[in-house]
Amino acid sequence: MSLSDVELERYARHIVLAQVGGVGQRKLKAASIAMIGAGGIGSGVLPALAGAGVGQITIIEDDVVDISNLHRQPLFRERDAGYSKADLALQFVQRLNHHVKATPVQRRIDPENAGALLPGHDLVIDGSDNFATRLAVSDACVELGIPLLSAAAVQFQGQVALFRSKPCYRCFVGDAFDADDCDNCAELGVLGALTGTVGNFAALLAINSIIGVGDDPAGKLHLFDGEKLSWREISIPPDPGCRACGSH
Ligand SMILES: [Zn+2]
Repeated sequence: MSLSDVELERYARHIVLAQVGGVGQRKLKAASIAMIGAGGIGSGVLPALAGAGVGQITIIEDDVVDISNLHRQPLFRERDAGYSKADLALQFVQRLNHHVKATPVQRRIDPENAGALLPGHDLVIDGSDNFATRLAVSDACVELGIPLLSAAAVQFQGQVALFRSKPCYRCFVGDAFDADDCDNCAELGVLGALTGTVGNFAALLAINSIIGVGDDPAGKLHLFDGEKLSWREISIPPDPGCRACGSH
């Protein structure tokens, strides 16, 4: 996967970094990422990935823009209310970087279609807003052997974790949430600037992981406290009885 002169100029501030270089930039170009959700988290992730030159991005989102989204979803404008988020996110990515091949999928991902939508991607980033979707995505990623980067923000709290099959997201949250949308920010509220912080942190983790910068962060949960303005990190132990990744 080579870089044209135009791309070398475009990514010059990346390529000059010792940790990235031409090799890292070519890894980004070769990468294919599925983004689940083009909401608050997606609004932090997608501009960073597209700007960084990730070669292929699939945007899976079935929702349309609502005025109450705009405080945390800067991908969209007032005039976008009522229109497909997947299509609008595609337009955003295309305008930002025509070198990126973006594909919109206007569907809600679920346990039935996840196994068909996710194969072929090097990384799945889940920025959905409910546990049922997160667990469906996680189970499919374990099954397919695709790393999953999970990012969530609610009220003043954010969390980001990379899972490489074991431990998985289900080890972390258990089975109680399969049919429950209890983490929906429509009910609990979320600070708009928080989703951008968490989404951008997730994009940084994704880019580092693709290039191979730093230690592998898999299995660690990064927690952000938006009131104290601090990050902390805890390890997630694998659950031997986990329905998805356990030895059942
Ligand atoms: Zn598990």
